[in-house]
Amino acid sequence: MSEQKNVLILGASYAGLSSAHYFLRHVLPVLPDSKSYKVTLVNPSSHFFSRPAAPRAVATMKLMPPEKLFWDIAAGFKQYSADQFTFLEGTAVEMDPATKSVKIVLANKETTTVVYHALIIATGTRPVSPMLGMQTTHNVAKEAQAAFNAALPTAKSIVIAGGGPAGVETAGELGEELNGVAGMFTAKMTNPKVTITVVTAEKKLLPMLRPALALQAEKYLNKMGVNVVYNTRVESVTPNGAGELDTSTNSLDKVTQKATITLSDGKTLDADLYIPATGVKPNTSFLPSNLLTDRGYIEMDKTTLRVTAAGPLVYAIGDVGSYTRGGIMDIYDAVPVLLTNIKRDLLNPEGGAKGQDRPYKPNLKETHLVPVGRSKGVGAVFGWKLPSQMVWMIKGRDYFASMTPDLVGGNKWSKESKWAMDA
Ligand SMILES: Cc1cc2nc3c(=O)[nH]c(=O)nc-3n(C[C@H](O)[C@H](O)[C@H](O)COP(=O)(O)OP(=O)(O)OC[C@H]3O[C@@H](n4cnc5c(N)ncnc54)[C@H](O)[C@@H]3O)c2cc1C
Repeated sequence: MSEQKNVLILGASYAGLSSAHYFLRHVLPVLPDSKSYKVTLVNPSSHFFSRPAAPRAVATMKLMPPEKLFWDIAAGFKQYSADQFTFLEGTAVEMDPATKSVKIVLANKETTTVVYHALIIATGTRPVSPMLGMQTTHNVAKEAQAAFNAALPTAKSIVIAGGGPAGVETAGELGEELNGVAGMFTAKMTNPKVTITVVTAEKKLLPMLRPALALQAEKYLNKMGVNVVYNTRVESVTPNGAGELDTSTNSLDKVTQKATITLSDGKTLDADLYIPATGVKPNTSFLPSNLLTDRGYIEMDKTTLRVTAAGPLVYAIGDVGSYTRGGIMDIYDAVPVLLTNIKRDLLNPEGGAKGQDRPYKPNLKETHLVPVGRSKGVGAVFGWKLPSQMVWMIKGRDYFASMTPDLVGGNKWSKESKWAMDA
């Protein structure tokens, strides 16, 4: 057989895993001479990290053990034959649109170059704290969480920077684990065993939810000994890099280091443990700068999900793309769009596909679920407020961990989402 055409997918998280399974199940089989195509999936870690469940593991890995958090990627693709699918444990370090190739540093430090016929970029973002997301490999996240868990019994003060969902959820999990919950008639725990402080630059918590729900989240936190400081930025942290992975040495020592946090109002906070939960950075350093927005996300057609400036058959999906506010629901909305459009492009290599491209339409309605501790939560779906109990039932019970096998093994995409305008 002549050389196969590679459909190269970079990143194996919600966006990359979904794209790979969807392509293998619903696109590849309908391509003429489908045997001439193969999928190559590249990811720095052998395991997928179910990020939403990280806040519970930060507080206690007994309730969120590694086997629920990290899932073997290769095992999820065993169902496909070796001439259809290859998994490369490695990191894309350079993409060259002119030669349609990507240089990859493999886990064994060797370098390989993969020439692509089509490319899907799904390299996502990374949070500052190695406990909350994928910095390099899942082992780094696991070791960071274990070291943090081990430091908790002697901690008297914890500071969390950031009042978004990751900061609030982590504060709630730590509050309930370390301090418990005050009784029904106590609005605020006065003498908590561990002082937990959330510092946010905003005037409210949880930017994606309405003020009343943000206030309710604060009330739940207060009952667990968590205090919120508003309108205040963290200006600096001493020692520098406290709470972070030292990427030059791969040391996790700073994750459990005592820190002094200087705030924008000039005050300082001393913390036995410090968690930076202040947002994420896109994983795009391997891409030419003309493909990036000024914030470092991928410049793209926000409707068709094509990365037009990179040439034909290049697409982006997930948090790395500039088309989205981020989040898993957005990805699940985008998967059938991208995969329909790549199918149209591959079936019509000379252009002129019949019908219309499938358009991505963002859900801009208030949709967000935020557990606060182990039995409460705030949230809304499509603008409808949900009762605390419902947030707990949908997300708080296990932070979606039980849905992970279907994602990694592809059953999430067992059915094709048909596109009515494809003719
Ligand atoms: C603590 C926390 C809680 C969250 N909770 C929720 C929630 O409840 N609901 C929700 O909708 N969203 C939640 N999110 C956001 C959600 O996790 C993201 O929207 C989602 O993970 C994005 O998926 P992705 O596939 O785009 O990228 P990511 O999950 O960021 O994954 C990108 C993948 O690409 C890999 N990669 C990076 N660089 C390269 C490279 N150069 N070459 C190859 N591979 C590379 C990474 O290692 C990673 O495996 C949460 C995020 C955090 C941090």
